[in-house]
Amino acid sequence: MRTMRTMRTIQGREPRRIAFLSEHASPAALRGGVDAGGQNVYVDEVSRHLARLGYAVDVFTRRDSPELPDVLEWAPGVRIVHLDAGPAAYVRKDDLWPHMPAFRDAFSRFARRDGARYDLLHGNFWMSGWVAVELGARMDVPVAQIFHATGLTKRRHQGAADTSPAGRIGVERAIVRRADRLIAQCPSERSELIADYGADPAKIAVIPSAVNTSVFRPMPREEARRRIGLETDGPVVVYVGRMLPRKDVRNIVRALALLVRERGVLVTLLLVGGESAEPDAAATPEIGVLRALATELGITEYVRFAGKRQADELRYYYCAGDVAVTTPWYEPFGLTPLEGMACGRPVIGAAVGGIPFTIADGETGYLVPPRDPAALAERLCALLADVALRERMGLAARVRVEREFTWPLVAERTAALYEALLTGRTEPDSTTGAGRVPDRVTVVGAEAVGYTRAVEAAASVPGGVPGGVPGGVPGEGA
Ligand code: UDP
Repeated sequence: MRTMRTMRTIQGREPRRIAFLSEHASPAALRGGVDAGGQNVYVDEVSRHLARLGYAVDVFTRRDSPELPDVLEWAPGVRIVHLDAGPAAYVRKDDLWPHMPAFRDAFSRFARRDGARYDLLHGNFWMSGWVAVELGARMDVPVAQIFHATGLTKRRHQGAADTSPAGRIGVERAIVRRADRLIAQCPSERSELIADYGADPAKIAVIPSAVNTSVFRPMPREEARRRIGLETDGPVVVYVGRMLPRKDVRNIVRALALLVRERGVLVTLLLVGGESAEPDAAATPEIGVLRALATELGITEYVRFAGKRQADELRYYYCAGDVAVTTPWYEPFGLTPLEGMACGRPVIGAAVGGIPFTIADGETGYLVPPRDPAALAERLCALLADVALRERMGLAARVRVEREFTWPLVAERTAALYEALLTGRTEPDSTTGAGRVPDRVTVVGAEAVGYTRAVEAAASVPGGVPGGVPGGVPGEGA
């Protein structure tokens, strides 16, 4: 039986039971590898905080090791349920689609055996979204869906390199039609859902993701460097994230070469992420590519690879840096800019996807065009030359995340969406904040949830909200 010490009832009712479906991204997985990043963090944080609000949350994920128990008591009010679907071994996310009917049926068997009756299904990513709408129809319960990334955006940016299954986009269209609510993480994702997938705007709630401000918090640079054994007094630029071509760490290496070789600014670039704690090109091909590039550009001594690191250590890596950088080709939302900001560091990010929504350009860091090493080098130079500017921006960054991007806020907004869905209440438009909002937890609206400023900030980026208005070109920033 479930042990839920913290479980309270919501307005005197029995706790609502929520099934989080996340076929490849378990909260328990180590992060930083090719298939474990922001979605794992989202599922972990949102489920825990929903449980604190009184929901009973079961997270369903695929068993990818024979050692995993059927049910893992993960946090007060949160269980992880491992379902058999395909081999009990790691399978690339792009090869999981054929196992989704088995995932769906394993869910039904578990629910029967456990006697669990769920009030709502929350799908994550397109494959679990399909499972959620299938089950939602069978069980007659509402479905809230968050994609984390969409197939059309991926294809637009990756072209032939996109290894998603052929049917992905068609399945996504069906989910958009069938789900009761769609959660977009930023205005550009909302625009994409409408323009690319024909989503009904009334079904979309914009609920930005967040950062754990207790884990990610500022500390002095020197102390952080000592903790990770980084022996330099010079400037350090840090990148944290998965090592994938689309994250375009190559762009950062090229910018570094411009700094070191053309401007004489001797900067260390600290790169965190990969398949293993020891940076290893065999396990992480992108590390091999980056090493070769650094050699070609004559800057190997300035590039340090730290390998995959977990959240408890990441604070030291961010704080060891003077500036954090991320310049992907596209980014559905992007948690790492928020992590750098929470650590009190200015962040330079590519103006794509969710990044113009999180970084306040000129206030908490800078936005630069993607695939433009010269523009990045220019901004890095300005920041590295001005300690007062860095400190001011770092402080403003911390204040911004504390005000707008915390997981308790995400959980409140998600709970508001659930409650509106379960009680049939209507919600005001989530991006304009239209309508009066008397109670933060009963409706999802920009005024209610306090992120009007973030929406405005994104809209004031040159070229408007990335992705533009419905009908514009989605996914690309200024
Ligand atoms: N991450 C990590 N260890 C690493 C590299 C990345 O824990 O070595 C985490 C990072 O801190 C962040 C997440 O993985 O929380 C990446 O999320 P983001 O939204 O930035 O990108 P995604 O991986 O979802 O594309």
